[in-house]
Amino acid sequence: MAINAYAASAAKGRLEPFTYEPGPLGPNEVEIAVTHCGICHSDLSMLNNEWGMSQYPLVPGHEVIGTVAAKGAMVKDLPIGQRVGLGWQSGSCAHCEWCRSARQQLCAQEEDTIVHRHGGFADRVRATADFVLPIPDALPSAEAAPLLCAGNTVYSPMIRHNVNGNMRTAVVGIGGLGHIAVQFLAKTGCEVTAISSSHNKDEEARSLGASSFIATKGTDELKKAEGRFDYIISTVSASLPWNDYIAALRPQGVLVIVGAPDAEMQIGPFPMILKEKTVAGGRAGAPWDITRMLDFAARNNVKAIVEKYPFAKVNEAMERLHSGKARYRVVLEA
Ligand code: NAP
Ligand code: ZN
Repeated sequence: MAINAYAASAAKGRLEPFTYEPGPLGPNEVEIAVTHCGICHSDLSMLNNEWGMSQYPLVPGHEVIGTVAAKGAMVKDLPIGQRVGLGWQSGSCAHCEWCRSARQQLCAQEEDTIVHRHGGFADRVRATADFVLPIPDALPSAEAAPLLCAGNTVYSPMIRHNVNGNMRTAVVGIGGLGHIAVQFLAKTGCEVTAISSSHNKDEEARSLGASSFIATKGTDELKKAEGRFDYIISTVSASLPWNDYIAALRPQGVLVIVGAPDAEMQIGPFPMILKEKTVAGGRAGAPWDITRMLDFAARNNVKAIVEKYPFAKVNEAMERLHSGKARYRVVLEA
């Protein structure tokens, strides 16, 4: 049966109704009937071909919530009708060392939901069953959708870098990813500082769990935070004065970069050498990371703050993200 989606036919193009035939369902595949799809900044970057890997027609959408509509013969779990989610990754080889150690995001043959295949701005979307994950009952669908990419991307580095409640942490960029990162860190017991362009989001960041706030534009507040944080996560889609953030780390502190500006980083090695600091990249993690993240979110009441749009208003919804005014994640709802 044909899938009804929204696709752009060229870089920076409008999303228009687009129908495609998905072909026979593979034995390890699941077809999801989409009820909700969050809009990540990466959807916008892919639409605009900012990373040079987009293929058109491009159907964005990789923060999917829906129900299992069909499944291949080899899929033993995931009953028809089960509520499930799908994030950035939709497949992998399943037998390399990375897949076998629950680090499928590092598989050389990893397949991403909107790269060279069609994503969740559609009535249905397909993925390998391993990447289709049950959603805990405590999480409402619209508020859970952004957890599938934004939540996963900020939670996975916390696992990898052993973030714990003794740490002083900071989140740079209070957008879709950042507002969820503040919640995860605060609920872990960390001290959390929100670092944002201006003081506009101060009150809301504190209501999400931040105990202090730094505004960067036209202030010296960041410079005053020298040597303060064990862990900083940058979710900003633009280049930053990276050396100032490295200076804001305590000895052996870690700066994790998940926001994806398309620009070189100029960093001085000496502060890193002398105080044993680390600059690390982070990306949306494996299914096991997502499962643990969803469980943590359900038990600790971590939810995205969302603005809902019907699928038919997808271009307005994309424009809302582009404007930078969304508080904090735009979600399409069927
Ligand atoms: P978003 O909702 O647009 O939030 C980004 C935030 O960054 C904005 O709210 C703003 O926060 C800040 N910002 C934006 N432009 C800025 C500028 N020029 N200077 C300083 N701050 C700026 O985007 P998102 O969906 O959270 O995604 C954030 C980034 O993460 C994107 O680059 C996206 O592609 C990337 N991403 C990466 C992964 C991964 O696997 N590594 C996964 C998902 C997304 P303030 O208002 O607080 O300043
Ligand atoms: Zn994303």
